[in-house]
Amino acid sequence: MNTKIVLVITLTLSILISCNDSKKIVHLNNDHQKAIPHWSYSGETAPEHWAEIEKNSDCNGKQQSPINIIHKDTDSVPAKTDLKILYTPTTLISEVENNGHSIQFDFEAGDSINYKNETYYLKQIHFHEPSEHKVNGIIYPIEMHLVHLNKTGKITVIGILGEEGNESQLFEFFESFLPIETGKTKDIHQNIDLSSLFLEDKHYYSYGGSLTTPPCSESVNWIVFKEPIILSVEEVIKLRDNMPLNNYRNEQPVNERTIYYNY
Ligand SMILES: [Zn+2]
Repeated sequence: MNTKIVLVITLTLSILISCNDSKKIVHLNNDHQKAIPHWSYSGETAPEHWAEIEKNSDCNGKQQSPINIIHKDTDSVPAKTDLKILYTPTTLISEVENNGHSIQFDFEAGDSINYKNETYYLKQIHFHEPSEHKVNGIIYPIEMHLVHLNKTGKITVIGILGEEGNESQLFEFFESFLPIETGKTKDIHQNIDLSSLFLEDKHYYSYGGSLTTPPCSESVNWIVFKEPIILSVEEVIKLRDNMPLNNYRNEQPVNERTIYYNY
């Protein structure tokens, strides 16, 4: 073999090897970044440690969620007209993701609610098992969070509690996309009729709170429906088995806040 060719091969090989080496270093760095503690629902990164782990979060603020809603301590207001659910029967789900904390359905822009004369758009729906909010100390098997954003980024979350009973067609639909592995997303692009969530007694509690996951941002309008929806034990179990065990944040102090009962 010509010495020039040998030299070229040797050079090429050494460049390839060094490229591989640098790739390895980058890869190791990524692994290292992943090793930085991230919040979770158990062990050293459980909710009671969120304020330490998430340095610039509001997790140790004074207006945190969830809370235990004690009905006799609420202020009753005849203000059901503050909330208008403007979903259409053709609300479009774009995808479902398992983000490692919950199962989350993302929505196309469009469907909205009107709350205190402001429009908030439905962004996503996710679940907690068991519930995060308690009503009169009662923990429910499931809580659904319907997260809405207005044009300036202000958040209104509707919390719907779930009680075990007959099968729910809506949950059958949601769960038809399960199982889904952690970190994975599935495209859906299908219509969903969410009206079954709002047919019952529309009385609700409202208060100013926070996101129930880091960064626990405050100034969130919370609307928690008084009447739970009904779903089957099997539907609760299927959802539970696709999420981290006990993916709820512990009860937060009410402090100076007023909780309203909108009847
Ligand atoms: Zn939530």
